[in-house]
Amino acid sequence: MLTPVQNEEQTARVSGRRLAPFALCGIVTFALIPITGETNVDWVEVLLAFALTVSLGIAALLAPQLTGGRFAGIAALTALVAIALLRDGTGGARGGYGVVVIVPVLWVALYGSRRQLWQVLVVVTLVLAVPLVVLGVPDYPSTGWRSMPLLVLSCALVGFVVQELLARERAIGERLQAAHSELQRLAETDPLTSLPNRRALEAAHVREIAAAQRSGRPLTLALIDLDRFKDYNDAHGHPAGDALLRAVSIEWSQRIRTTDMLARWGGEEFCLLLPGTDTAGAQLLIDGLRACVPARQTFSAGVIAWRPGTTGEQLIAGADEALYRAKRDGRDRTVVALGAAPEARRARRAHDAPAPAATS
Ligand code: GH3
Ligand code: MG
Ligand code: MG
Repeated sequence: MLTPVQNEEQTARVSGRRLAPFALCGIVTFALIPITGETNVDWVEVLLAFALTVSLGIAALLAPQLTGGRFAGIAALTALVAIALLRDGTGGARGGYGVVVIVPVLWVALYGSRRQLWQVLVVVTLVLAVPLVVLGVPDYPSTGWRSMPLLVLSCALVGFVVQELLARERAIGERLQAAHSELQRLAETDPLTSLPNRRALEAAHVREIAAAQRSGRPLTLALIDLDRFKDYNDAHGHPAGDALLRAVSIEWSQRIRTTDMLARWGGEEFCLLLPGTDTAGAQLLIDGLRACVPARQTFSAGVIAWRPGTTGEQLIAGADEALYRAKRDGRDRTVVALGAAPEARRARRAHDAPAPAATS
């Protein structure tokens, strides 16, 4: 996620990149005037064209949005007026500047709409045809009736091909984006239960811990493990075990809040992440989940409250240890981990000291 300043910098870089080739065209266009050998230059028209071009460049630099989207057509039309003046001021058709009309066509093809492209093509035709009719020879000889349609056609070809290529690129980009989103969804979804998987939960607990750190609101995590599920599989068959895992997933999903997260942690283990809920609330919720498990299947749960400074891994380790206690104490129960740091508890367990957990 970019900050507003980074966003602004990126916008400036993008508009600078957009503008650079067109600015180069403008510089070369005006720099060529002294070397064309044209003695009959109308400097008023040339200076007017120059002023228009420079204003356009400054507007594009200072307010990039003015030359893109809705305003791309206006920018192109302004450039065409500048080209018409420049062309007339440097000897008309003989000056060689007619071909520059392709530059605003390219701009509108890249940054404008199909409708703007049509409008610009009409104006290109007028810029090339009106002097032929109104002024005629010597500055606009009748050969212009041959070059004018060819130039307009070339402009149309370039414009429409560019727009077509851009449309294809956009379509490919959208398809890639959709495929990426689908891939992301698949990577974070458990195929059997359609619940978020462990990867999704690990990403979520990092976010939720950061949110709890900011807001000071409680955050509780619970690990739930179906009791003697191996026996259930042995008695009813693996497909029946799968069906039970799916059934509890559906039931439990309906009982949690939209801000809660129920994930399949692996095998017959589930993980609940409960933002804004303390351990008492979590125990109540788990009691509710216990009541709706089909086939008289039971489960054990380990619950832990997040405390400032605790990492996600420590939270999971604490819940896992409480779950282990629940299993050891006879299953079909919830154990809440007490406040000691998980590392300290693990160390004590290693020395066979009584585990700091309370049974509900
Ligand atoms: P405990 O009360 O100690 O947790 O006993 P348990 O039998 O549940 O635990 P154990 O770890 O011995 O066995 C877990 C069982 O869960 C074994 C495995 O067949 C079953 N299981 C794991 N994943 C799936 C699954 O996707 N589908 C089915 N049907 N069974 C699964
Ligand atoms: Mg297990
Ligand atoms: Mg089990």
